[in-house]
Amino acid sequence: MRGGEHVSPTPNPLDVALWLASQGYAVHPLAPGGKKPVRGCDRCSRGDSDRPNPAYVEHDKHACPCHTEGRPCHGVLAATTDADRIAGWWVQTPAAGVGVAAGPSGLVILDVDCHGNDVPTDPEQLLPGVELPADIAPGSVCDGRDVLALLVEARRATLPGCAPETLTVRTPSGGLHYWFRAPAGTRWRPQAGALGWQLDVRAGSSYAVAPGTVTRDGAYTVLGDCRTVAELPLWLARDLDRTGHRVRPQRPRVALPWRPRRTGCGYVAAAVEEELRAVAEAQPGTRNSTLNRAAFALGTLCGAGRLDPDRVADALADAARHAGLPERESAAAIRSGLTAGERHPRTPTGAAA
Ligand SMILES: [Zn+2]
Ligand SMILES: [Zn+2]
Repeated sequence: MRGGEHVSPTPNPLDVALWLASQGYAVHPLAPGGKKPVRGCDRCSRGDSDRPNPAYVEHDKHACPCHTEGRPCHGVLAATTDADRIAGWWVQTPAAGVGVAAGPSGLVILDVDCHGNDVPTDPEQLLPGVELPADIAPGSVCDGRDVLALLVEARRATLPGCAPETLTVRTPSGGLHYWFRAPAGTRWRPQAGALGWQLDVRAGSSYAVAPGTVTRDGAYTVLGDCRTVAELPLWLARDLDRTGHRVRPQRPRVALPWRPRRTGCGYVAAAVEEELRAVAEAQPGTRNSTLNRAAFALGTLCGAGRLDPDRVADALADAARHAGLPERESAAAIRSGLTAGERHPRTPTGAAA
């Protein structure tokens, strides 16, 4: 903790767990002093590889009867917001730390490591798929915090902690956990290092250690004054989507009712298909903006003579209907998007139209 800051006494784990549950976050107990879940009952614990538990009974942990009976078996799968159940767990193990199940809590937690391990020499390994400035000074990237700063700069975004504020937890090793709410209707999966070097994501079936938990390595503390959780910023959601963290429902195949005008060009066909899919699968809340964007993007190809605007308008109308958009509204959006796009002709290879 920085000098001069008020040092608050370590909160009681039960109070932390109950407070989190009252905010809608599902919690589960962690073994005292550690960051792993408490051991489950005898029939649910496999034991370690060198010391397997002979009492373990093979069963589906997702349908374990212990959960209906209120036992904290299988770690994150036991997580709950039920105050009575939580009180019971911490009466049993008062020193248990608090785990927060990301998926059931609707959280996406950006886990920024601070290991100081060997820094990759290839910039492509720092942030795969992100164009970075050529003049990154050697030695300026030491850990995940620097990699996140590069991503934030590449996206011309702002880092939470500045704005928008969100609950940020400092780990005993100096790492940071930025807590975000998953946008409504979205599901995310955890991965380590897919976004960037030392940038992990806790989501779905994974959990994070709650602030206030004290382990043998030190305490998890809230950084700064922010106690609220912001929605996952759009720029970060896009990067997490791009790097495979988004769980998408099975894509309904959207029939392409026509073929692009110059069938030799795979790029045009692919662009059309991608835009139509995006429109057809758009969730309420993003449907209009997705349709506007798609109409504009395809309009640029119409402007370059690659597509027939009337046919594109028909196909977009089909996709918009599939997404459940009202017909009159979408027809107007399609027209204006196409017209605007046509004024900015785009050719696939960058050659003149
Ligand atoms: Zn059990
Ligand atoms: Zn079990």
